[in-house]
Amino acid sequence: MDLDRARELLTAELAELEERARFAESSRVEASADTLGQEGALGQHPGDYGTEVNTTMEAELSVDTIGGQRRRVIEAIDRLDAGSYGRCAVCGRDIDDERLEARLEVATCREHADTPVVT
Ligand SMILES: [Zn+2]
Repeated sequence: MDLDRARELLTAELAELEERARFAESSRVEASADTLGQEGALGQHPGDYGTEVNTTMEAELSVDTIGGQRRRVIEAIDRLDAGSYGRCAVCGRDIDDERLEARLEVATCREHADTPVVT
């Protein structure tokens, strides 16, 4: 894995994630506002309320998902800065290129893919 290229791709991904986080954040606010606005409304169809709640939950979920991914990308950039990028955070062995290419932000080798990494 070429480190300059990894940095370029990770930086681009971070910018995209921040854009998506802003979008998800704003749709969450809108979804909550809609739900509050309809509370106690006369003649409201019971089905409408459920739809609004689902929209809010989906927005919450994507904010969390994007936040987690954003944190992993930032950590990967930190590892590039520290010179430890591409090495497994558990055993210190090189992570194979195929795995890194697929997920630039991975911190562990295949063997330790399921090991939680405390940073
Ligand atoms: Zn490992």
